[in-house]
Amino acid sequence: MKQAFDAKVVAPTGNKSEPEADCLICPRLASFRASSQAKEPDWHNAPVLNFLVPNARLLIIGLAPGLRGANRTGRPFTGDFAGDLLYETLIDFGFAKGVYRAHADDGLRLIGAAITNAVRCVPPQNKPTPQEINACRPFLSATIATLPDLRAILALGRIAHDSALRALGLKLSGFPFAHGAEHILPGGPSKDLTLFDSYHCSRYNTNTGVLTPGMFRDVFTRLREEIDRPRKCARG
Ligand code: SF4
Repeated sequence: MKQAFDAKVVAPTGNKSEPEADCLICPRLASFRASSQAKEPDWHNAPVLNFLVPNARLLIIGLAPGLRGANRTGRPFTGDFAGDLLYETLIDFGFAKGVYRAHADDGLRLIGAAITNAVRCVPPQNKPTPQEINACRPFLSATIATLPDLRAILALGRIAHDSALRALGLKLSGFPFAHGAEHILPGGPSKDLTLFDSYHCSRYNTNTGVLTPGMFRDVFTRLREEIDRPRKCARG
């Protein structure tokens, strides 16, 4: 049965880091989820919750679940090409342990890391609207607030970068997005927070050479250094 949705995006209330499984705040995305549910009833087809450990020092923010990736498996970046590159890199740099098998119950464990998306529901053509990005941001703000040890945020793409800054109440003009950029941020739960930028590790970006695995690893080399930097040392 086709479900009717209001056309208006309504802001969420409260300070929750996770949306309800049937979140209807974004009517277009709720409708898209419902249509995917009708076609693929065995898929997750719901907002994708955070994958994290509470003592995370690194938070990775993607754009949104991929239709056949996280929207299918229910875990961020799991089940599509972006996840292959991300989880392989996380394991190599000590932010995850185990074997990534592209499904949510593969037993992979994060080590001091958290993974989320700026938008929790799969958008048509992988393109959320500005209103949908804004509507889902309170869940990102609340997620950041639940991570008291956070030292670094890795934004995968400009939308994740902008949403992270807005979630922290910062102006975009002071922190322009650029692959490989590092922005020392005021505020944040640990009061010592750096925002790292990378192009998104999507299949499109890697196939077109916009992002090579080497470029991605270079960002993680700096991330690892920053996270392991003794806190009494001045920033170099
Ligand atoms: S994108 Fe976020 S705010 Fe919008 S319906 Fe999904 S969970 Fe709710």
